[in-house]
Amino acid sequence: MVKNFIPYGKQWIDEQDVKEAAKILRTDWITQGPVIEKFEHAIANYCGASYGVAVASGTAALHAAYAVAGIGQGDEVITSPLTFAATANGVVYCGGKPVFADIQEDTLTIDPREIEKKITKRTKAIAPVDFAGHPCEYNKILQIAKKHKLLVIEDAAHALGSEYRGKKIGSFADLTILSFHPVKTITTGEGGMILTNHKDLYEKLKVFRHHGIVKKPEQGGWYYEIEHPGYNYRITDFQCALGLSQFRKLPRFIKRRKEIVARYDAAFQDEEALIIPKEKSYVEAVYHIYVVQLRLEKLQAGRREIFEALQKRGIGCQVHYVPVHFQPFYQKTFGYQRGDFPVAERYYEGALTLPLFPKMTDAQVEKVIRTVRSIIRFNRK
Ligand SMILES: *Cc1c(COP(=O)(O)O)cnc(C)c1O
Repeated sequence: MVKNFIPYGKQWIDEQDVKEAAKILRTDWITQGPVIEKFEHAIANYCGASYGVAVASGTAALHAAYAVAGIGQGDEVITSPLTFAATANGVVYCGGKPVFADIQEDTLTIDPREIEKKITKRTKAIAPVDFAGHPCEYNKILQIAKKHKLLVIEDAAHALGSEYRGKKIGSFADLTILSFHPVKTITTGEGGMILTNHKDLYEKLKVFRHHGIVKKPEQGGWYYEIEHPGYNYRITDFQCALGLSQFRKLPRFIKRRKEIVARYDAAFQDEEALIIPKEKSYVEAVYHIYVVQLRLEKLQAGRREIFEALQKRGIGCQVHYVPVHFQPFYQKTFGYQRGDFPVAERYYEGALTLPLFPKMTDAQVEKVIRTVRSIIRFNRK
């Protein structure tokens, strides 16, 4: 490991966070205690959703959302090929088929026109991904969903705090999922949440999180029934105490992320071999990652050489993501091939994620800028 290595993302946990979590560890309720609901209310309230259900991870949140949406054998869910595999894997857990629709070149989010082309009799839901924190085109997506009677399950793992046309994410999709993995906006270690405005889905989510157990007190205080087996997707009380403490700092985290993004934008906008992120005028994007695209036609080196040169100099760049339809499982099972989604694939060829996290110091930001510039300039054609 290079000294002073700057990772692409990282949590910021302070003494207050540690204290809040430790306080719960000293109580009788380290799991299934009262802090879970407090955390759920705080996040749902902030996002403008009626209900929140906290679970063990963002992946569990996706699985639960697809399950309560009724995704079953052979059902199709339309999603983006440019996402973390969990968005599509969750559909597979339910026996469904992820159907990819290509992205828009500017925002890197799913293209509503491509969604329409993929709708069949088996389509049950659309699962848009707010890539890097930039909300998708929800006016159009919600319209398509309404017309075809589909549910919208929004993967907002990158986007806690983002807004679309004045509305916070979490307030308008049928189900919205969040992740609290350490690289995400706030963390509970592992953790996730599903937001919804539908009471019936909310009730089902709570049952799904807890083995499918429905209590039947009229038949005795101990008695319960399972109609559909659920999972143990519970989160612990001390994780939620950490989450609540982190949540109080969310505005500060967002402000700092935006400052760093503004600095990167200013530094890289004239760099001809780089394409910087674009933000629509009607969104507020909370950047989870800062993604640039290398214009390979202007460079002598390939993406891999540049990636490795950055890593060697202590810049923990990443690539988000290998398109899901490149994965052997998706190719073997559903017949996807390279070439199926040209916009996502063109993006992927040059994609590079630069370090971005609220605890980054100005000196670290400047080091990233200096290093990226010098490597790019050294490799210019
Ligand atoms: C992080 C992430 C997930 C999964 O969240 P985990 O909490 O790591 O399970 C799902 N979708 C996207 C887009 C993500 O970035």
